[in-house]
Parts: sequence; structure tokens; C-alpha cells
Amino acid sequence: MSLPSSSPQAAIIGGGPAGLIAAEALARSGLAVTVYDRMPSVGRKFMMAGRGGLNLTHSEDFERFVTRYAEAEPVLRPLIEAFRPKDLRAWCEGLGEATFVGSSGRVFPKAFKASPLLRAWLTRLEDLSVRFALRHTWQGWDAEGALVFTDAAGQTVTTKPDATILALGGASWPRLGSDGSWVSMLQGKGIAVAPLRPANMGFTLPWSEVMRSRFEGEPLKRIALAFEGVTVKGEAIITADGIEGGAVYALSRSLRNAIERQGSAKLLLDLRPDLSLDALEKRLSLPRKGQSASTFLRKAAGLSPLGIATLRESAPQLPVEPEALARLIKAVPLTLTGTKSLGRAISTAGGVPFSELDEHLMLRRMPGVFVAGEMLDWEAPTGGYLLQATFATGIAAAKGVLSFLKIPDAALTSNPSSVTRHP
Ligand SMILES: Cc1cc2nc3c(=O)[nH]c(=O)nc-3n(C[C@H](O)[C@H](O)[C@H](O)COP(=O)(O)OP(=O)(O)OC[C@H]3O[C@@H](n4cnc5c(N)ncnc54)[C@H](O)[C@@H]3O)c2cc1C
Repeated sequence: MSLPSSSPQAAIIGGGPAGLIAAEALARSGLAVTVYDRMPSVGRKFMMAGRGGLNLTHSEDFERFVTRYAEAEPVLRPLIEAFRPKDLRAWCEGLGEATFVGSSGRVFPKAFKASPLLRAWLTRLEDLSVRFALRHTWQGWDAEGALVFTDAAGQTVTTKPDATILALGGASWPRLGSDGSWVSMLQGKGIAVAPLRPANMGFTLPWSEVMRSRFEGEPLKRIALAFEGVTVKGEAIITADGIEGGAVYALSRSLRNAIERQGSAKLLLDLRPDLSLDALEKRLSLPRKGQSASTFLRKAAGLSPLGIATLRESAPQLPVEPEALARLIKAVPLTLTGTKSLGRAISTAGGVPFSELDEHLMLRRMPGVFVAGEMLDWEAPTGGYLLQATFATGIAAAKGVLSFLKIPDAALTSNPSSVTRHP
């Protein structure tokens, strides 16, 4: 499909899910859209998310869903109301990828990966005449306000579109394209940026040499972690210098904030969350019959070698008295001393604060420039909340562009033929 040459021009910088969904919405409304990305292909982090099954969104009650965005809930709520989890599922299904709700309530495409969805999406975008300028690294604006890129040949490329959407992502996994280099470009324009910090990440913890050499990469399964009155059941993985995994990520926001406040955080590990303290104490009251402490803990308390080693890390002299031992097994104290780096985190906290944006996600200081996705200052746990807000803010920014350019909004449908043309 070709567009009239007089169509309004939109530049989208960043070909992650926020940029691509914005491109789709704008192209449907008849804009000539170019997606710029520094990488040789778009959607690399989306593909990486697909390795874990591509948890697109969550099926829980909407009122509970929006609380996951904590302080950002008031600003994100109307945007997610306009593109709800059910809309994201319908969009995915419109691309031929059925979705299902997993046992935890998380929503995934049935293919349990990103590649078929991304392939179908890119075909749709091509049908909508979206242009892709790959290997184009954004460098900021020139003195005339034009966008400046460096292309693969090192040449400078400039363009002055009618509207721009910045969808450059956070700064985790920089090898996938998003490295947060946009921060200084926006700050140079007088725009405040909240410091980028790791979110959904691991923590450092000074393990002994024995622990490191024997158990690095091993999972602590069916455990519970507790911090500041919140308990999360799941799994954690021992790393050379700390701990990571689903249950850790779920508490990572409050753990990170506590470490920032006081230098460390005490995480409590329950090695037998399925047993009450009383039941565990009873088991530990059985006669030891000359068994070594490890054999006794394995047989009476059902602890794995890793569970026993973790217990010993916190208390080299294990209590003999059954009640004290049971209490320790149900609350092993782990002192976390720092966060793993932003580069290794699942997502990024911080970014462009909503106070710099109007309700259409347009920069107040730069009319015609919109911001979407993970570069905005919000964070959320894993569970599909990251992609849901990424998509919803991409759609909101695209609607903002349409309202800025006074172009009617052709609602997102699964039918790419429903495109408005602007003569
Ligand atoms: C391992 C992993 C697993 C994940 N799993 C899930 C999951 O299951 N569910 C979920 O909800 N979320 C998941 N996420 C998070 C999710 O992938 C991100 O929140 C989402 O990709 C953010 O989308 P975005 O479009 O804002 O940014 P990105 O996807 O980061 O895209 C930004 C794009 O901008 C480009 N770019 C950056 N700087 C420049 C520049 N200067 N010039 C040109 N281009 C530039 C990048 O190349 C990139 O293509 C996961 C993340 C990771 C790392």
C-alpha cells in the first residue's frame, strides 16, 4: 500500500514494542511512519522476553492489576483503561497468535515465544507502509530542531517530521539496543530525568567459597521469601555473588529501596513454607540416632543439600534445640548488600517523569515530541505488567500525535486494510 506524499510524517525512534505499536496506530490513521532503530533488527528485547514464554499481560482483576504500578498508578490507569489486558490479548489474537492464561494468572501466547508474533506484526506493519530505518543511531536534535542519526556507514542523517515518538527503552541488557544514552540528550534540552535504576533484578550477598563453588547456578525450589511483611513463594537461584530469580524479583523494589536507604536489607528465607512451625518442630524432635546434622536435616526436615548449605551460611553453629532450629529453617536471614547492575536487570526504574509530559505523553518543553514505553518513569514487577504498560503508553503516545496533528483516530483493529488516507 502506498501513501500520498502529502501524508503527515511521524518518526518513531526505537523499534521495541512501544515504538512498534505506536507505528501501527499511526499508520492505520494514515500517517507516513518511519521507525528508526540502532540495531540491525527491531524487537530484540521483545524476542528475549519470548525466551521466558513472553508473558504479555496478566488476567487478574483490573483494580488489582493497576495497583502493580505503585506510585505511577494514577497516571498509568487511564492509559491502561484505554488499552486493557483484554485489548492486548485481542490484538495478539488478531495477529494469529492465540493466548492462554497460565496457572499463575499470567497471560502468554500459545506458541510460548515471541518470534511468530513479531513476524506477523512486522508483516502487518509493512502492509501498512511503515518504513524501517535500521542501524540508525539517534544522536539528538540539531540547531534547527531536526532529528539527527548516524547510519551504518557513519553518515549523518537528519529529518524533521511533523511529530516524533521517543520509544528508546530503559537501560537493561544494553546489547539488545537500549542503553539509556538518550538521558543526556533529553537533559540537554532541560528535561528532568529520574536516575535509571535496576528493577526486577538480583542482589549481592557475600557467600562463602564453599557456597560459591558448590552451588552457583543451583535453584532453591519451593521456598518463600519475606521482606517488610510481604511473603512471596517461588524459586530463587544462587549466583556467584548473590541471589536472583522470580521470588527475589517480586520483592526487588522494596529490597532495592531499603538498600539505598540503609546500605543492606535482611531477607528472610523459608526453606519449608509448606510446613507450619509446629509441624517442623515435631519432625525435628525425633531422635537423631547418631545421624550427622546434614543427614538429620535431610531426612527429618526434607532439606536439600543447597537448603542445608544456605542454613549453615547464616548459622555455622546450628541450634540443637528443635524449636530454635525450626524457627531458623523457616526464617533464614540473608543480608543483601547491594543490587546487581542495571545491565543485568529485567527492567529499568526511573526515566522521563510524568511531570515533564502532558496527558498525551507529549514533552511540555518540546511540543510534537512524545515519549512511550520503558523510558518513562514507572516500574512494575514481572507478571506481564511491563509489556502491558509498554503497549498502553505506545498507544497513548500515538493518540497524542493524532490529537496534536488534528488527525482522526482510526482505532486499532486487526484488519490492516482499515487505513485512513490523508490526501
Ligand atoms: C530477559 C528479559 C525478559 C523479559 N520478559 C518479559 C516478560 O515476559 N513480560 C514482560 O511484560 N516484560 C518482559 N521484559 C521487559 C520487556 O521486554 C520490556 O519492558 C519492553 O521490551 C520495553 O519495551 P520498549 O519498547 O519500551 O523498549 P525496548 O524493547 O528496550 O526497545 C527500545 C528500542 O530502542 C532502540 N534504541 C535505543 N537507543 C537508541 C538510539 N540511540 N538510537 C536508535 N535506537 C535506539 C533499541 O535498539 C530498542 O530496539 C523482559 C525483559 C528482559 C530483559
